[in-house]
Amino acid sequence: TEDKGQNTEDRMQEYIVIKGAREHNLKNIDATIPRDKITVITGPSGSGKSSLAMDTIYAEGQRRYVESLSAYARQFLEQMQKPEVDYIEGLSPAIAIDQKTVTRSPRSTVGTITEIYNYMRVLYTRIGIPYCYQCGSIITTQDLHNIIRAILSLPSGTRVQVLAPIVKGRKGEYKKELQQMRMDGFVRARIDGEMIDLTQDISLKKQQRHTIEIVIDRFIIKHSIERQIKQAIDTSLKYADTVVINLLDENRDILFSRTLACSKCGISYPEIEPMLFSFNSKYGACPRCNGIGFENLIEKGHLFFSPQPSIIEEELTHMTPCKECNGMRLRKEALSIKLHNVSIGEFAAMSVRDAEKFIHDLKFSEREMIISKRIIKEVKDRLSFLDKVGLGYLTLNRPSLTLSGGEAQRIRLATQIGSSLTGVLYVLDEPSIGLHPRDCEKLFKSLTHIRDAGNTVIIVEHDEETIRNADYIIDMGPGAGKNGGWIISASAPVDIINNTASITGKYLGGYLTIPVPKKRRKPEKFLKIIGASEFNLKNISVSIPLGVFVCVTGVSGSGKSTLIFEILYKAISRHIYKSKLIPGRYKKIEGIENIDKVICIDQSPLGRTPRSNPATYTGILGIIRELFSQLPDSRIRGYKPSRFSFNVAGGRCEACQGDGLKKIEMHFLPDAYVTCDVCKGKRYNKETLDIYYKGKNISDVLEMPISEALEFFSAIPPLKQRLDILEDIGMGYLKLGQSATTLSGGEAQRLRLSKELGKKATGNTLYILDEPTTGLHFVDIQRLLNVINKLVDMGNSVIIIEHDLDIIKSADYIIDLGPEGGDNGGKIVATGTPEDVAKNKESYTGRYLDKKL
Ligand code: ADP
Ligand code: ADP
Ligand code: ZN
Repeated sequence: TEDKGQNTEDRMQEYIVIKGAREHNLKNIDATIPRDKITVITGPSGSGKSSLAMDTIYAEGQRRYVESLSAYARQFLEQMQKPEVDYIEGLSPAIAIDQKTVTRSPRSTVGTITEIYNYMRVLYTRIGIPYCYQCGSIITTQDLHNIIRAILSLPSGTRVQVLAPIVKGRKGEYKKELQQMRMDGFVRARIDGEMIDLTQDISLKKQQRHTIEIVIDRFIIKHSIERQIKQAIDTSLKYADTVVINLLDENRDILFSRTLACSKCGISYPEIEPMLFSFNSKYGACPRCNGIGFENLIEKGHLFFSPQPSIIEEELTHMTPCKECNGMRLRKEALSIKLHNVSIGEFAAMSVRDAEKFIHDLKFSEREMIISKRIIKEVKDRLSFLDKVGLGYLTLNRPSLTLSGGEAQRIRLATQIGSSLTGVLYVLDEPSIGLHPRDCEKLFKSLTHIRDAGNTVIIVEHDEETIRNADYIIDMGPGAGKNGGWIISASAPVDIINNTASITGKYLGGYLTIPVPKKRRKPEKFLKIIGASEFNLKNISVSIPLGVFVCVTGVSGSGKSTLIFEILYKAISRHIYKSKLIPGRYKKIEGIENIDKVICIDQSPLGRTPRSNPATYTGILGIIRELFSQLPDSRIRGYKPSRFSFNVAGGRCEACQGDGLKKIEMHFLPDAYVTCDVCKGKRYNKETLDIYYKGKNISDVLEMPISEALEFFSAIPPLKQRLDILEDIGMGYLKLGQSATTLSGGEAQRLRLSKELGKKATGNTLYILDEPTTGLHFVDIQRLLNVINKLVDMGNSVIIIEHDLDIIKSADYIIDLGPEGGDNGGKIVATGTPEDVAKNKESYTGRYLDKKL
């Protein structure tokens, strides 16, 4: 009860007040965040935005929530450590919507994660009409409940008469039926002309004749107990205007066995219940593919329901639908239940936009309307949100594993909208990722709806428009890592512009800008893709200039990744490296001879092991180990470079095998990690740690931020060269030994980029990058542009898929796809220099670009 009092108090507060936040690089800072407002936390990459938003505010909100649960529930939840903070007041239950969490189940789809599919299962159960999959006639039912459902779906005015024996003495069962009908809320019943209360026990006397009328809507169903009625009249629900349903005594077993059967061909049907439409259950799933929908996944052994097998992305390309269910995932009985002639499988195959139209056009009877109103509203809300945030092109049966991080994040947001909560704290991590400026605008509008419903929204974001539109801005900085962790400015957007200490303010105020290049490079050679037609691409042909910086633009779902990754990258890899990747459909690619290397730099994690870090990944640690083994002390003791590796025995701490951490297995509780008590987290044994270079041992070096290491190793050319690149690209704040598992997708991508930059360039290399601005602040974007230009000036070609207008305006050449996402996209809308595209009235990108030039 004490907790509850605290919560009510918290809820009444106007602010979330944070005192003494010290997580990661935060400098014991205080912050005040207005509740029921949209606050954007911005600042350079590595300045501490996520440390404040996610690792402090969200973590504490979550932890308090978990603490309020029973001990029993708690043991199943991840134990969250208390963040480094003195206290936080005014917190609400917190929901974080980031880009990382993906379920790896092959049965997770856009429809299931948004719950749209689950609601549709209930809708199909309630008002779907069963057809026989063999002869096509409507299934008649021997089940009272289902009879009534079938009758109610008839055109109004149809006269229906049901002849049936009352079930003598089995009042319990009879009552069950009645109650089920009553649940729909339309049933009135009379026994022998008298109204009865359906919540009461109905006592029917044995041997006595009763006449029972069940009145549902405008139909009257008469149960007559005339036991002598022998006439069994076949039903033809579809065409007859009087329907007589035979429920004679000899059919009584069927009456309560709740089975359905086709009256023409006699095929029996399972009971219609939501489970029948679930491809996650044995009851509903297609018997061939067990609900996964694809032949190749069957072959790869993903057939079982439990434990949920996880799937790898590569298995999800070039999939062929299951031969039995045609990719619809369900058994044929489930697929033969239709709503306005559409099965649930066909519904799921629709794009969000088409599904919206389908639901909108559904015509309901009054009764149907009442029992489906809530479901329809939930489905509509979610569909319209998905469409509003630029995901109208996604099909509901799209496997969630094939979604990009940004798409998945917006989908989780749609799920939240549907739940229409109030008093919640939403923490979002860069929701603009993958969004065209046009869709960013829409997303922001949706966030304002969430706010107006009485929720607090905190967004970690770099997108200029989002920052400008926020109610409140917290600007972190000034630098990254050790040089960040302070709040530079906390104010309404108008005020940050006047704060001379804030770099963000300077960019917003236009005092600092990323300049538009004076000249665009002129290409001489081209790659030409002819007849690209994978997914939504409309048999397009496009020339991609080489030796310049090309941006591929277009709204989300327009076909950018399909053209550049699925087709171009895979085809070139096959050609140059004889790789086994299978490209998407195209006719021909000309000009491949002009390049001799293709490098794709995406945002997938560097590794899932904590042993991988910037130093190991970029090869810097190898050089440092070599350096340490050359030191006089090492030579005397005969230490080789491997002595300084934490991956092999010799120099590492054997107590933790170089992890620095020890796993404690807790019975019934998740494993806990504690710092190794032998090496105190330093990963090496004492002898190794006795070797010093300029006063630092190998563990000290791994703890150094890259900027510091750059100074420290400035005399060692191969190290300086590699560290320079990392610094140039804005990664100076990362510690050399920071575990790869703590890096964001954007950071991982920039590390990959720097590794490539460190290699000898051939001058004929094609670099392909996907949204490298992820996680980048204005300052960092300038740095990234410098790196790109360096690559291009060496003669290489760079193709970037990007939404950031500062990057797009800096390109030499733009290929704009669209006009929309999904089926309404897949065409080339505009090509040419940014100036050319800005003039094109058809291009959404052009419209936004125009303001930037
Ligand atoms: P931002 O969100 O502004 O990009 P972060 O809050 O992610 O910045 O990072 C701030 C600093 O904290 C950086 O120096 C980063 O390297 C460090 N950091 C982030 N996560 C961790 C972690 N799990 N362990 C150690 N240091 C971390
Ligand atoms: P963009 O990169 O411009 O956001 P994509 O190339 O990812 O667009 O998508 C273009 C179209 O292809 C969209 O309609 C999308 O839903 C569809 N698509 C992309 N990947 C897949 C996939 N693995 N399975 C089915 N459809 C896909
Ligand atoms: Zn140890």
